[in-house]
Amino acid sequence: MIQRMPDANQRSFSCTICGRVVTYDGRTPATYPFCSQRCRMVDLGKWLNEQYTIERDVTADDLTDGEPPNPA
Ligand SMILES: [Zn+2]
Repeated sequence: MIQRMPDANQRSFSCTICGRVVTYDGRTPATYPFCSQRCRMVDLGKWLNEQYTIERDVTADDLTDGEPPNPA
């Protein structure tokens, strides 16, 4: 009888960029939460782009929502 019990250490996550399911056991991959270094760079690029967008479209909510800047 074949039982397909998942390994207790086996985990998986979906790449936040391309949605590919990555399965791993034990150690978390260095690229987590992305499937690859490439998707990691894509995400970085998205963040940078959003940063520029926010700078041009800042509202009062943006100023009061987050933590105050570090005085140091
Ligand atoms: Zn990916």
